[in-house]
Amino acid sequence: MEDPGPADGESEGECSCKIGRAVRTYDLGAFDRTLIDRRRDGASLRDLETVVNEAVLRAALREADADVIGDVSSVYEGLAGDEASAGERAELRDRLARAGVDVDELEADFVSYQTVRTHFRECLDVDTDRQASLSVEDARGTVEWARSRSEGIVERTLDRLARTDGFTAGDVSVSHVVRVTCDDCGASYPVDAFVDRGGCDCSTADSDGS
Ligand SMILES: [Zn+2]
Ligand SMILES: [Zn+2]
Repeated sequence: MEDPGPADGESEGECSCKIGRAVRTYDLGAFDRTLIDRRRDGASLRDLETVVNEAVLRAALREADADVIGDVSSVYEGLAGDEASAGERAELRDRLARAGVDVDELEADFVSYQTVRTHFRECLDVDTDRQASLSVEDARGTVEWARSRSEGIVERTLDRLARTDGFTAGDVSVSHVVRVTCDDCGASYPVDAFVDRGGCDCSTADSDGS
């Protein structure tokens, strides 16, 4: 690895890796702060990959005539996710190109989660393999973020389904309730209650099998 040495004294977006270049190219501002905060809130490397790429996409759409394109998350899902068919993806790329987006260039600027890991380790000096301890409040925030994000994905998927032949629906809304069940004691709680009461009644000694 040909890294230019220690990361000391580097400020936001001044590293030379692909993420540092994206921060400068797309003018993402204090983006390292965002990444570190999200990481602290429990975001995985895959989540952070999406955070980076949606920021890049958002900036690319801001410069383009993008009112007709739709929201950033669905566009990103359409380009990079595995829900869209090849035909839908081609149609989306067409629409983006017509709105003035250089789609090839945009996709070339998307990063992988491995790039995120390298950026954390070599540019920010943060070891992402080490598990940071998590406050209950942070955990609640992350669970709520994931829950509402999943509602959004399900809702958009049903919206798309509703536009297909032979499928009809009124004005539906989606709610995703997260439930936690312990295989050991059989207790089952909504995730909020599980977090509030400090887990289930299993003791850690029991699950050690000692
Ligand atoms: Zn970097
Ligand atoms: Zn239990």
